[in-house]
Amino acid sequence: MSDLRVRFAPSPTGFFHIGSARTALFNWLYARHTGGTFVLRIEDTDKQRNTEEALQVIFDGMRWLGMQWDEGPEAGGDHGPYFQSQRDGIYQEYIQKLRDADRIYEKDGAGYFRISGEPQVIFDAVRGRVERTEEKDFVVVRSDGSPVFHLVNVIDDITMRISHVIRGEDHLSNTSKHTELFKAFGAPLPTFAHIPLILKENGPGKMSKRDKGALIEDYRKRWFLPEAVRNYLCLLGWSPKDDREVMAIEDIIRIFDLPQINQNNARFDEKKLSFINSRYLHEMSKESFLGMGRAALLETGLVSADSDADYVDAVLVLCQEKLRSIEDLGGFSEYFFKEDYAFDEKAAAKIFKKGDPRARVAELKEGLGSVDDFSEEALEALVQGLAERHGVSTGEYIHACRLAVSGRSVGPSFYGLLRVLGQERVLIRMDRFLADAGILAMG
Ligand code: GLU
Repeated sequence: MSDLRVRFAPSPTGFFHIGSARTALFNWLYARHTGGTFVLRIEDTDKQRNTEEALQVIFDGMRWLGMQWDEGPEAGGDHGPYFQSQRDGIYQEYIQKLRDADRIYEKDGAGYFRISGEPQVIFDAVRGRVERTEEKDFVVVRSDGSPVFHLVNVIDDITMRISHVIRGEDHLSNTSKHTELFKAFGAPLPTFAHIPLILKENGPGKMSKRDKGALIEDYRKRWFLPEAVRNYLCLLGWSPKDDREVMAIEDIIRIFDLPQINQNNARFDEKKLSFINSRYLHEMSKESFLGMGRAALLETGLVSADSDADYVDAVLVLCQEKLRSIEDLGGFSEYFFKEDYAFDEKAAAKIFKKGDPRARVAELKEGLGSVDDFSEEALEALVQGLAERHGVSTGEYIHACRLAVSGRSVGPSFYGLLRVLGQERVLIRMDRFLADAGILAMG
């Protein structure tokens, strides 16, 4: 392991914001890229918001995204405790150092830090040279004796031997206070890297927790794939400097570096995220897809623990290729699981405009009624034979019969659809269509 040490220092707020997740991710990537150590530190000095659930949201979100920390809560390490709420002894010791050096004085009951007033210059790994001068002494110890954020943040970075502080740009304006404090303690400055904000999809301003797509836990609930969300987050403010978007995490780790982080703010782009998610979905192994698909279908209520497991799996395997997200799975596949599926009126109108699909359905039904082989090859040969005999395209059979057995004009491969539904179901559905389609014809 190298001496490089980075940290992610969230305050438990009860949700895991996409901006925090991206900050965690850039720290994690940098640690993995350099062989350094990734520390998780919980900045839990706000006692009201500091609940067990709020903590769990962070741990779950980090683990879901596959960002395991090397040191921190539950992982341990030599620089703990990793909760600010448990570090008061350390803080008091450091406050004493400042008092001994006459850098703290009392005013109105609070402890003020005596600034140097020197220009504070940092060479930020993202923003380059940044200079800022503190003009006023500032409070570091509240009247109740508790140290403020700036002070504990710096003491922790010193005592945890953090070499690189990678954090959101909203902290850039705090940095001159922090460097004043580092110097007062005689500690070397870490390298800072302030990463750009994530702007909301439409309009100005950074993404707030109320914006759609802002919370990691929602992606999880909506069955996004964690690898896809992580891949997308990598692209929010960083790019491999070529056109690649879908990238294996190993490749990102290999080339990730701080100077490639953009100075410009990143804008959230749900379409791009969905595209990346669909790519991961299509590449997913059959086993993983089945695992997620079964659970998602159970949640929709379309299937239950008593459903025919082979049938459910066959539907899932058939749908994987065309599905855009697991969130869509219920809507995409519902007609496999219920007989009262709705007919898409627009699709029906279009098909009826070209001719009466009932003739095609009746012809195919007759053929299907007498076959023993319901394989896709046999079904395809059957449809081709009919099309030739009647001098029409196979498309006419496909459109008419897909409408009959699924109510739609789009879906998984047609022959796969028939095979998975099975002979009995297909014939029943075709019969019903032939009996009821008059109403659609009038549509
Ligand atoms: N607890 C701070 C936050 O959540 C972290 C500050 C830092 O990274 O230095 O914004």
